[in-house]
Order: sequence, then structure tokens, then C-alpha cells
Amino acid sequence: MDRSKFLKLSSLAAMGWIIGPSLVACSKNTLFENPNYKGKVLIIGAGAAGLYAGYLLQSLGIDFQILEARNIYGGRMGKFEGLSDYTVDTGAQWLHGNNSILADLVKKSKTKITNDTSENTYWFQNQLVKTLPKDIEIFDKEGLPDISFEDYALQQGFGSEYKFIVESLAGDQGADASQLSAYWNHKDEENWVAGEDDFKFKDTYFHFIDQNIAQPILPKIQLNAPIDGIDYTVDKLQVKLKSGTILEADKVIVTVPISILKLNEISFSPALPTAKTEAFQKIGMGPGMKVFLRFSTKFYEDFVLGGSICAAYADDTVGKTTNDNVLLAFIMGEQAAYLSGLGSDAAIIQALLAELDLMYNNQASLNFLNGVVFDWTKEPYIKGAYGFSSVNMGDARKIATQPIDNKLFFAGEAMNINGHHQTVHGAVESAYKAVNDLILNLK
Ligand SMILES: Cc1cc2nc3c(=O)[nH]c(=O)nc-3n(C[C@H](O)[C@H](O)[C@H](O)COP(=O)(O)OP(=O)(O)OC[C@H]3O[C@@H](n4cnc5c(N)ncnc54)[C@H](O)[C@@H]3O)c2cc1C
Repeated sequence: MDRSKFLKLSSLAAMGWIIGPSLVACSKNTLFENPNYKGKVLIIGAGAAGLYAGYLLQSLGIDFQILEARNIYGGRMGKFEGLSDYTVDTGAQWLHGNNSILADLVKKSKTKITNDTSENTYWFQNQLVKTLPKDIEIFDKEGLPDISFEDYALQQGFGSEYKFIVESLAGDQGADASQLSAYWNHKDEENWVAGEDDFKFKDTYFHFIDQNIAQPILPKIQLNAPIDGIDYTVDKLQVKLKSGTILEADKVIVTVPISILKLNEISFSPALPTAKTEAFQKIGMGPGMKVFLRFSTKFYEDFVLGGSICAAYADDTVGKTTNDNVLLAFIMGEQAAYLSGLGSDAAIIQALLAELDLMYNNQASLNFLNGVVFDWTKEPYIKGAYGFSSVNMGDARKIATQPIDNKLFFAGEAMNINGHHQTVHGAVESAYKAVNDLILNLK
């Protein structure tokens, strides 16, 4: 969303240290050397990371299969057609930056994208304002302590009137201000090389990934195939589906959300090293939901931060061809947990309308047509929004992503170690790294 304020633009060359020497020299979408490998790779999860890992393996002529628990692929990307005259993104919608493997695919495919230049408005002390009395950019500077955003805000004299502004900064990172580390979050921003601008797809983000990455590998994706165990003691790994079926593989790439690994929903035999399971626990992942509200008129600003029910409202129609007025409520952390707990979509929508009525003199209720809620925390194979950097996390992300015995590989947004976690392009990069590790160590 509003990343541009906090991100540093640096050159793609800086990615060399993560991608690895053998791949830096080649095109970022194809591995230049076909390893002529005859083994079989199983990929767990068909989100951006799993799909892209499959796409790369296919380009290398390596046999693979993707096992996906849900009845659709795409993971935390999805689309919904029933709200408005255009299709909304139920999960990821912004391409953050145009300097990544994925952005290169967008350029190559000549897909139309629009730079989202929406400007911030703040709901501050019961007023909508364009600027704040205190500079919130202090959350993005060198030398911040490894304490939470909330504690750092208090330490810097940001009083209770800033509570929900600070929540909106943390919410952009999928976190609660009480959990997001000021220090590690800044480190993430320093590492970020994708670029500052945010782009919207004319269709959906899902549509782009579907057309360009999923369709070419469709026969290799098995849906409704949740797995619950991986045995890597044996030469051929055994992957156990919940149905009881056991599949054999030479290598496995695990791309499930970090929430699933934190909850030990997949058992490993032998158990994963303690350092690794501890690293999973240190990577944060909190609740998250998106609510779309359609109105008969546009009475709201493009981007409003600081609500106490929802810390970020955005005009969803930017970059779309539509006659409709749709406002997106982007809700993370405690606010998402609170709304989830209200028990029904109608109650969630009512709570958001009440907050907007306060901001806009009852215009929300007067102009409301319909709305729809997507609560990612309630998806049994997702269970939250996206990984964030918690207080004391240290190098957890690096440990979490390390391959085991040259057989088990880990990818997915939370495993991205160059600051691009929380994103689709970050998930894609993590898949690139996992496939690179796999290829470099073939035996
Ligand atoms: C509300 C929301 C808004 C977002 N907005 C943006 C945005 O604008 N821009 C952006 O770049 N990113 C955004 N993101 C983040 C982005 O969606 C994710 O970073 C990315 O899609 C994650 O991809 P992934 O492959 O790592 O994981 P996932 O997409 O979660 O894929 C993992 C897959 O594993 C499957 N799985 C889980 N358990 C099992 C099992 N036992 N067996 C088999 N399969 C299993 C899941 O069903 C899932 O399909 C958003 C996320 C959310 C929730």
C-alpha cells in the first residue's frame, strides 16, 4: 500500500547476494543451465511461491507436481466478481515496485498496470487532515531500537492521539503495533530493492499470475490435496496426504504460509531442527481481512489512515475501468481480530460504516449499496495475513529458509530474506532461491 514513504530505491544489482552467483548472470525468469535431472520434485502449496517454483522447474525440464490443500490455486491471491462492475482482488492487489523478477514478467507480458499515486489523508483527533503535527517518518530511520512500534512511539512522545496512526503504519506490515519491531522493520526497508511505486492491475493480480505462471503448468497442479506429513529419513521422501495417500519424491519444496508451520500442521520425520522451529515461531503473522464497500457516490478521500476500527481505507477503483464507487477497508492485526470476533459479515460492515459516518457526516450509511468481507484468518490453510518482523526476531528468516539435507527446501513470502516478505514478488523471489538452491546442490 503506502510503501513509498518508507522504502528505499536501490539497484537490482543488490539482489545478487540473495539470488546467488550462478543465476545473477542469466535472465531473471529462466535458469540458464538445464541440469538434466531425472528426479521428482513435490511442491507443497499453490500460492505465488509454489506456482513460480513449478514454472521454473518446468522450464528446466524437471519432473514436478504441486499439491494444494484448497480447491483453488493462487493462495493469498484471489478474485471476486459479485460486488461491482469490475472484479476485486480478494488478497494481493498492488504490485509493489517495478524492479523484481515478477515486475520483469509483467513488462515482458505487456500487461497494463497503473501507478497508484493516491495521497494520504489522516483521521487525527476526530478530523481529516493532510499533514500531522509530528513527523511519522521517524519510524523509518537508522538506529531504531529492537522494541515494538507501540513502545517506540511512546518513547518518542507520540501520545494516545497517534495510536491509530501508528497502528496504520504497523498494519501496512500486517502487524499489530505492539508486535512489529522498529529495528527489524527498518532493516527490512533498507534491504528492499523493488522500488517505491505501487501499481495496480487493470484486471486482478490473480489474473496476471494465472495467465502467466499457473496456466502453463496447470496439469501439474493437484487441488484438494492437503498434506499432513513429510518423512525425509528415507532416500525417497514420503509425503503423506490427509487422505492417507503417500507420494514419493526426491526433493520437496514447502511453500505453505508461515502460520501453518508455526502451528505444526505439517509433521516432519525426523523432527525439524529446534533452531528452525524456533525461527518459525519468531516470524510474526497476524490476522488480516479486506472488506469492500460499494457506495452510490464517492464522498471519501483516496486513502485514509488512522481509523480506530480500520486503520487504512483506500479507493479501490484506482487503475480499474468502472462506473462504481468502491472503498476498500484494509484491516490487520488487533483491528482484524476485533472485527472477526463480531461474528457476521453484516456486523463487520456495520462497524465500518459507523466509523465512516463519523468521518464523513453520515455519508457512508446514506450512500451504502453493498459490501463483501474476505477474512483470510478464517481460511483453514492460510490463517492470517502475511509474515512480519517481530521484536527479537534476529536472523530467524535466514534460518527458516535454509534447506535441510539437500532434500527439503522452504519458500513462501515469509521466507524472503531481502526485505520483500509480505509480497507476491517476494514469494516469487523465495521460490527462485529455493529452486536455485536445489539446482546448485544436485547429486
Ligand atoms: C489481505 C491481503 C492483502 C495483500 N495485499 C498484497 C498486495 O497488495 N501486494 C502484494 O505484493 N502482496 C500482498 N499480500 C501478500 C501476498 O498475498 C502474499 O505475500 C503472497 O501471495 C504469498 O504467497 P505464498 O506462495 O508465499 O503463500 P500463499 O499464497 O499463502 O500459498 C501457500 C499455499 O499453501 C497452501 N497450503 C497450506 N497448507 C497446506 C497443506 N497442508 N497442504 C497443501 N497445501 C497447503 C495454501 O492453501 C496456499 O494456497 C496480501 C495478503 C493479504 C492476506
